Amino acid sequence: ATPMSVMVGVGKAAEAGVLIRNGEALQTASKITAMILDKTGTITEGTPKVTDIILANASDENTVLQLAASLESGSEHPLAMAIVESALEQDIELLKIEAFNAITGMGVEASCDGKALLFGNSKLMAKKQVDLGKYTDKAQALAKEAKTPMYFAVDGQLAAIIAVADPIKSDSISAIKRLQANGIRVIMLTGDNKETAAAVANKAGISEFFAEVLPEDKANKVQELQEQGEIVGMTGDGINDAPALALADVGFAIGTGTDVAIESADITLMRGSLHGLADAIAVSKATLRNIK
Ligand code: ADP
Ligand code: MG
Repeated sequence: ATPMSVMVGVGKAAEAGVLIRNGEALQTASKITAMILDKTGTITEGTPKVTDIILANASDENTVLQLAASLESGSEHPLAMAIVESALEQDIELLKIEAFNAITGMGVEASCDGKALLFGNSKLMAKKQVDLGKYTDKAQALAKEAKTPMYFAVDGQLAAIIAVADPIKSDSISAIKRLQANGIRVIMLTGDNKETAAAVANKAGISEFFAEVLPEDKANKVQELQEQGEIVGMTGDGINDAPALALADVGFAIGTGTDVAIESADITLMRGSLHGLADAIAVSKATLRNIK
């Protein structure tokens, strides 16, 4: 396409809230054969809310929430925000924590009032040798409802399961259908557990997904698909999506996402809607068709 037609295309896309940072990305967009979508904040709203607290070795929900929220006040993860917000809504006071540590793709730990606190997924509990007993069944049941269950341990003992739900954006399903109607292979990628991922993918109309993907492995997934001969689009919002966004043939960032994601992407979806993907592809096709 000529520079003039690319300029026109960039302008057209902007009207649809799709910000194109380089003309080459606009030309490549129509050739995308596989689109990777991050789950949290991309397909879903990204603002999870606490739905369930199941007590294991703990006396009451308030104490559990107080300790868990105090621990999570050290984290900026969307899951952490959900826990902190839930405590604040109930006027639960946060306690001072020490030695906070985030374990990527697994969870967080800290000490509080002389107690060792641990919060995260089953991998984290296995790593720290916390016995989950029969509670894995409870967690699985929550995950089947598309909720994300997390384990909370105090001094090496399971205290509770706290689950959050993060609804799918109202127009994600129709936007994904549009991509599939364009013959694009749609794949969901997430750090979340397999059961939750399966439930969300199923709701979203996606048959292919990869769960429990560590941040550093998201970019590897892009490369794997490229090696299979796919022209890969990647859409994400998080810091952990940035390397994959940069490596993809076309990287799309959610406009409400992190700055790092936006800077690593070629195209930003200002409205946060996944319809921006099919819009960008349509403009790309028109650009290449009109002037060759
Ligand atoms: P994603 O953002 O796709 O869920 P992450 O790699 O950030 O992927 O997280 C993977 C999993 O690790 C989460 O689903 C959760 O179980 C656990 N985890 C990560 N950060 C936290 C946190 N701050 N608190 C509790 N659990 C966490
Ligand atoms: Mg995300």
